[in-house]
Amino acid sequence: MPTIYRPEKKPILKRSKHSIKKDNLIHRLVYNTLTWKQLRINKLMNQPLCECKECKKNNRIILAEQVHHIRCISTAGENQQLIKALGFDYNNLLSVSRLCHIEIHRKLNEEIEYLF
Ligand SMILES: [Zn+2]
Ligand SMILES: [Zn+2]
Repeated sequence: MPTIYRPEKKPILKRSKHSIKKDNLIHRLVYNTLTWKQLRINKLMNQPLCECKECKKNNRIILAEQVHHIRCISTAGENQQLIKALGFDYNNLLSVSRLCHIEIHRKLNEEIEYLF
């Protein structure tokens, strides 16, 4: 008796296409990378004090804990190259204290990039 070879039907993997949220994209491309973690540490080591306008104007000396992007990464939309260009541009970074960072974003009426 010849056996009939019946190829098994492979189940079609239905992956639902999640719409990639812009924020997740920024986190994936920038904040979750080792490059960013190193860049951030470099920035804070080179400029350990808050560089915000208010601190500069008032000669305030506050320790910076966070790094702000002068040109917000979210302005890059979903342009991955631009997200990385803005995210990893050392000249686009500003060392800021946590409170000054909140204040900067409050004035800009933007959401803060990340909090930790
Ligand atoms: Zn400040
Ligand atoms: Zn910021």
